Amino acid sequence: MMGQQLKGKSALVTGSTSGIGQGIAEAFAAEGANIMLNGFGDKAAIEALRARLEKQSGAIVDYHGADMSKPAEIEAMMKRAAERFGAVDILVNNAGIQHVAPVDEFPPEKWDAIIAINLTSAFHCTRLALPGMKKKRWGRVINIASAHGLVASPNKSAYVAAKHGIVGFTKTLALEVAEQGITANSICPGFVLTPLVQKQIDDLAAANGISAEKAAKDMILAPQPTKQFVKIEEIAAMALYLALPATASINGAAMSVDGGWTAR
Ligand code: NAD
Repeated sequence: MMGQQLKGKSALVTGSTSGIGQGIAEAFAAEGANIMLNGFGDKAAIEALRARLEKQSGAIVDYHGADMSKPAEIEAMMKRAAERFGAVDILVNNAGIQHVAPVDEFPPEKWDAIIAINLTSAFHCTRLALPGMKKKRWGRVINIASAHGLVASPNKSAYVAAKHGIVGFTKTLALEVAEQGITANSICPGFVLTPLVQKQIDDLAAANGISAEKAAKDMILAPQPTKQFVKIEEIAAMALYLALPATASINGAAMSVDGGWTAR
């Protein structure tokens, strides 16, 4: 059922042309928000998504293709969002990439890209969204971290460093804005079956000469006590929850949605 819980609010979700970010944009559209989509992908597919969400929300849904590794493009996107919506009320820093390799074999350019896209882009989007939030004395910054923001796995040094970084960034921001009607929280998902994880499954299956099903069940889901993937809708529900007035006192938190992974 369509709700109106975000009517009059404007949300920008980075990396919302796929996976978790798209799920969050869908959940926000279903609650009547204006939305700025962002991310890479096929032009026609992105336009179809934009048009569908705009119909669903009954509000404005726009798209900006800024590359989250390029600060000048982030500035252009934030400027466009401010022009379209007045201000970004709800910022979801979600865009992310992965690369898996041991530290001594980790390509430096992959390290730089992961830190830029998974961590530094959140700093840029946030610093540019904050003045508008402060003016309205209302805002929500929701950072999509990971269980890997709280614990590590081998061969994911850049990702784990970026995700621990974003959890720390979120806590600092929360302290800075606490008196101004703004909250900052991170969400720490366990494994969700998106293209980002499908690639890891396929790589593990190929490297170990096993089926994708076996790689998913025995390797990827090994740390996740439920032995089930977390659903995109479950992450989107947490993001919506953190955007609502009822959660004004949740600030600086790292909300785990990981089937119990980090309870170990
Ligand atoms: P995904 O690959 O399905 O989506 C990633 C999105 O980011 C896409 O829209 C892509 O176009 C966009 N993107 C990538 N590089 C970009 C760039 N340079 N500029 C702009 N957009 C860019 O992946 P996902 O699994 O939905 O991941 C979304 C977020 O959730 C990431 O931050 C990821 O680390 C995090 N996360 C995912 C899982 C999981 O199991 N899938 C678990 C924990 C956290």
